[in-house]
Amino acid sequence: MLEGRQLLLEEVSVSKEELYQLEREGYIRYEKGVVKKNSCYMCQRCGNKERQLFFSFLCYRCNKVCAYCRKCIMMGRVSECTELVRWTGPIQNEVITNCLEWNGQLSGGQQKAADGIAWAVERKESFFVWAVCGAGKTEMLFYGIQEALHKGERICIATPRTDVVLELYPRLQEVFPSVSICALYGGSDDFSKSAQLVISTTHQLLRYYRSFDVMIVDEIDAFPYSMDDTLQYAVRFASKENASFIYLTATPSKEWQRKLRNGKQDGVIIPARYHRYPLPVPIFRWCGNWRKSIEKKTLPLVILRWLHIYSEKQYPMFLFVPHVCYVEEIVSILKCIDHRIEGVHAEDAKRKEKVASFRKGEIPLLVTTTILERGVTVSNLQVAVLGAEEHVFSESALVQIAGRAGRSRHAPFGDVIYFHYGKTEAMVAAKKQIQMMNKRAKQEGLVD
Ligand SMILES: [Zn+2]
Ligand SMILES: [Zn+2]
Repeated sequence: MLEGRQLLLEEVSVSKEELYQLEREGYIRYEKGVVKKNSCYMCQRCGNKERQLFFSFLCYRCNKVCAYCRKCIMMGRVSECTELVRWTGPIQNEVITNCLEWNGQLSGGQQKAADGIAWAVERKESFFVWAVCGAGKTEMLFYGIQEALHKGERICIATPRTDVVLELYPRLQEVFPSVSICALYGGSDDFSKSAQLVISTTHQLLRYYRSFDVMIVDEIDAFPYSMDDTLQYAVRFASKENASFIYLTATPSKEWQRKLRNGKQDGVIIPARYHRYPLPVPIFRWCGNWRKSIEKKTLPLVILRWLHIYSEKQYPMFLFVPHVCYVEEIVSILKCIDHRIEGVHAEDAKRKEKVASFRKGEIPLLVTTTILERGVTVSNLQVAVLGAEEHVFSESALVQIAGRAGRSRHAPFGDVIYFHYGKTEAMVAAKKQIQMMNKRAKQEGLVD
């Protein structure tokens, strides 16, 4: 269980004698959980150095005032007297040949990305894939993963969201039936299992040390800003020093875009969806002072009309709102029209159930915060944003939201409407980005 790991001593279920033996053979090394250098603390597990993210307490274990790291506390407490056990020995992997069992075919765009990824895996380089929402990311990875397994390497797919781990796991198990795959997220107790292909939330990466030959980082832009450093630290230390890195996103930050443009980062732009239809382009609709309408227990007429059109047609709809405080209010307004309408937000305990009922068609319209901007695929979905001028609707949020529409081959079109009370730069930039991708897709012959 220790191979490639970095665990708290109390997490290790190996006997003292065995640990002693492993240490003598140089297979493991002990590290202090938190070290103090020039009166500054550093957490050896997550790399945190911020003074305000350490807390000192009178520790029952060392009987002293002892500092612990608050940044990675959700993974168990690391303090000055905690011992981290790091694996420094060899890691044994199997050479697994011809393990991909998949008869599907890659689209032109997917093929381009897949080639780049496999090439980077082969040459131990880093590769960046900027692929539009609905491009079909998972399939792009198949050949790269196969290549790595064929070389007897260890692969990790890291993603910020548990939903993605849960989605990817059965999908990969299906196409790599002979490979042992492990899914790691908060609450999964799978972490003692050793597997050559690991799908993990980024937090769980903190339990690995110099373990992976191939590190695939999904949605590099989706991490909460404050988590950025920890993420980079976790990704770096979970990987071997000569690992290849694959980065994926549909909405890269300006910095990533720049690195790709000026050649500092090797990569590729996949401007088209797997089904070869262009991305739905957002439409801007001025809706006046929508807050005032809400105060009067109604919604602007243009929005009500839009909702009416698609509820007549019985098409599923998402209405994105800028803040959780509007979800309930708007739902109560809309319930007068159709009592089946529901709302979701991040803290909603019934979120999963509601999304599931929505998929089954039991809920005609979901009022949601940006929590559903990513990951959700519903056939024939129509998408509207209320208050698109609000700050939370950044360029990338708006592109992701637009990316919910038209994802299915059977319903490749769909409405994307930004209802606003004053156009913003983010709205214009989001539309421009989508149009630019469509233009590119056409030029490259990736759409019909
Ligand atoms: Zn920490
Ligand atoms: Zn202590």
